[in-house]
Amino acid sequence: MGEELLTFRLMKIANYIDGVFVEPQNGKYIDNIDPSTGKIYGETPRSTEADVTHAVGSAKKAFPSWSQLSASKRSSFLLKLADELDEKLEYFAKAESKDNGKPLSLAKKVDIPRAIDNFRFFATAILHENSEIHDMGTSGFNYTLRRPLGVVACISPWNLPLYLFTWKIAPALAAGNTVVAKPSEITPATAFILSELIDKVGFPKGVINIIHGKGEDAGQPLVSHPDVSLISFTGGTTTGEKINRIAAANFKKISLELGGKNSNVIFSDCDFDKMIQTTVRSSFSNQGQICLCGSRILVESNLYTRFLKAFIQETKKLKIGPPKDPKSDLGSIVSKDHKEKILSYVELAKKEGGEVEFGGESITLEGEYSGGFYMSPTIISGLDMSCRINQEEIFGPIVTVMPFSSENEAIQLANNSRYGLAATVWTNDLKKAHRIADNIAAGIIWINSWLVRDLRTPFGGVKESGVGREGGYESLRFFTEPKNIYVDLK
Ligand code: NDP
Repeated sequence: MGEELLTFRLMKIANYIDGVFVEPQNGKYIDNIDPSTGKIYGETPRSTEADVTHAVGSAKKAFPSWSQLSASKRSSFLLKLADELDEKLEYFAKAESKDNGKPLSLAKKVDIPRAIDNFRFFATAILHENSEIHDMGTSGFNYTLRRPLGVVACISPWNLPLYLFTWKIAPALAAGNTVVAKPSEITPATAFILSELIDKVGFPKGVINIIHGKGEDAGQPLVSHPDVSLISFTGGTTTGEKINRIAAANFKKISLELGGKNSNVIFSDCDFDKMIQTTVRSSFSNQGQICLCGSRILVESNLYTRFLKAFIQETKKLKIGPPKDPKSDLGSIVSKDHKEKILSYVELAKKEGGEVEFGGESITLEGEYSGGFYMSPTIISGLDMSCRINQEEIFGPIVTVMPFSSENEAIQLANNSRYGLAATVWTNDLKKAHRIADNIAAGIIWINSWLVRDLRTPFGGVKESGVGREGGYESLRFFTEPKNIYVDLK
């Protein structure tokens, strides 16, 4: 695996099927764009149903022996992979930053370390699994086995490419399933170089297959394939709905981690400095392209003016620059289309009567980065909760700020959304914090913090933010099927 991949103009990605690097059967490729420059730097297979059929067939063939390996053998493969990834952290971080446009510092600190943790966590969690027994006294007892399902499909988005890809494949493999995974066609690089490590570690052929391509060409045949019994999907709500219909019609087990429109509920009795610093991060990290970013900031009215002033002041300090510059706080948006979509929301906000308090502009950097997809972090005020800006997921560096005057109003505003992924609550009154957290309809709430992730905890959303939970034992339960066996003693 050569470092040259990152500097050569063309990174040619291959599918990884049955332990072999292969071209797509139709020979077609999609351009891979470096969003920091807007230039093509590689090509990704445009796989189709034929490649999916090949991959699912190889995963099916590999299933019996992989699932029958002891948990400790499966664990050792995953641990070896984690060690290899750890050794190449810097290389993977560079690849992630180039492919996605995120600051290299963020990829080094968050994305790649978390991918390593995902492998280590599930490789060791599987060693501590045990079965339940339901004793019926002298008449008999039940014991429950948990068995892998077979071939599973893992589909992940572009915002945290390797982080979310490994969040799925690690528990799926640890539990004894074989995998066909499809990363986003917009950010395929780290999944591809991971397949080089998988090959190096020597996983049995067909246990992990990685297919590259577009959602409609490769993702859809994968989730529709009759030999795929489980789908783990992270992505947009519209795509999730489509996949859910296919899964329902074919009785496939499914987990959907979808969009969000998260609220930050800020009371005047909070730790102001900590709240401001964290709110800047929760608004604009990864250019606002994290499903857990807070995009609707609700502030108690007696703090509103002070909040807005300090928030604008701190946001102004953020440096937008080339992802590889260690001084850049924000890199580029992931693609030209996505940047245009985000900026169209700034125009819509103005039409809806909003005031752009800061930002809202396209940014052009100099020199080799002049064609990159940069924009300023954006703060909008003066809109009510029914506006499209406050109802639709933008998934970029745009937040709105709104005042509230009572706990009830804060809860009502926070819950006025078809989404329910995450929220933050800021107050030093512990009882109030619990009350608010309990009443907000969301799967994940942080009190006086943001993005503190303990891999043992359940992760997922309510309403249109998703179906099911992953994380910790929830993942291992999801990737296995319980089988109850009764033994009669009479
Ligand atoms: P998409 O829904 O567009 O795509 C997600 C993945 O699904 C990609 O790999 C995509 O492939 C694939 N896909 C698209 N269409 C189909 C289809 N018909 N059948 C099967 N697969 C398909 O989401 P984005 O990649 O744009 O990611 C952003 C979204 O992800 C946001 O809505 C964000 O909120 C959400 N997200 C949710 C998280 C959560 O944990 N709840 C975490 C992170 C992001 P391709 O890209 O190649 O078309």
